[in-house]
Amino acid sequence: MAKRDYYEVLGVERGADEAALKKAYRRLAMKYHPDRNPDDKAAEEKFKEANEAYEVLSDAAKRSAYDQYGHAGVDPSMGGGAGGAGFAGGANFSDIFGDVFSDFFGGARGGSRGGPQRGSDLRYTLELDLEEAVRGTTVTIRVPTLVSCKTCDGSGAKKGTSPTTCTTCGGIGQVRMQQGFFSVQQTCPRCHGSGKMISDPCGSCHGQGRVEEHKTLSVKVPAGVDSGDRIRLSGEGEAGNQGGPAGDLYVVVNVREHSIFQRDGKHLYCEVPISFADAALGGELEVPTLDGRVKLKIPEGTQTGKLFRLRGKGVAPVRGGPAGDLMCRVAVETPVNLDKRQRELLEEFRASLQGDGSHSPKASGWFEGMKRFFGDI
Ligand SMILES: [Zn+2]
Ligand SMILES: [Zn+2]
Repeated sequence: MAKRDYYEVLGVERGADEAALKKAYRRLAMKYHPDRNPDDKAAEEKFKEANEAYEVLSDAAKRSAYDQYGHAGVDPSMGGGAGGAGFAGGANFSDIFGDVFSDFFGGARGGSRGGPQRGSDLRYTLELDLEEAVRGTTVTIRVPTLVSCKTCDGSGAKKGTSPTTCTTCGGIGQVRMQQGFFSVQQTCPRCHGSGKMISDPCGSCHGQGRVEEHKTLSVKVPAGVDSGDRIRLSGEGEAGNQGGPAGDLYVVVNVREHSIFQRDGKHLYCEVPISFADAALGGELEVPTLDGRVKLKIPEGTQTGKLFRLRGKGVAPVRGGPAGDLMCRVAVETPVNLDKRQRELLEEFRASLQGDGSHSPKASGWFEGMKRFFGDI
């Protein structure tokens, strides 16, 4: 099919200035925009044709090439070409440029067009004690959210009236703006993308269609959750725009620090102080777990920092699988506030160790290392 003359397409004189081109193009783009003519092939063709004509004629270099050589001057598929970016055959022009622009200028293509929009997702941080997180719980939360206005049923217009189509964008919610070489689609400044105007706004929501409200929700927290886990409450986010579906509410778990236990995934860690007599002679300790105290046997000669593993005394993961372990790290405690008798016993004990390194496994190793480090000294 032979291409129509670009001036003819836009319905302007050959000498038309930029403003006249823009005006003519806007009128056509409005009329044949795919959003307003869904599944209309003829309209889509007209829209593409107008786009192409405008892209050429709004660019001085291309326009002069076109004026001189006709379509051959600007269409690479015709063998000619005045340099610069040509057109990709019959590809959808608006798509090529639209995608480029949504990347470059952050224009939300599709997202902020007219029509109903899904409400935003909300995020709520839920602080839990370790015990609550491990065992699971049900909590009541109060969240601020936007709900559909009951007075106007979400339309934003005063009762008995209804919104009218925006005259700036013709209800599309987007307008084309010239930005240097290209024309860019932007959210309509008048209707902010809704495509509608409200001349008589609803008093309750001031034309927003949604009002802020606090919602009280009951949240079931499954056993085993950890910091960063999210619980999704479908449809409990902000109400949609113009009757669009509501967003979701994400409850994000944050587990508070515990006075005794540190958590690492499904394992728990705790530090247990022991006397050095117990460490040396061995003994039985009482250690805390989330299910109460348990006894832990300490063998003689236990060094500080040793980890004892209590299998299955950790956390049962929320996604299933066996429970983790509780690791108890013993810390040998140096006795303080000794009385005379205790001091004498320790003096005697110290004297008994003189010159015999076999009682100090760590120290003998350490002295060996120091000798090697200082060499002959
Ligand atoms: Zn508008
Ligand atoms: Zn309202």
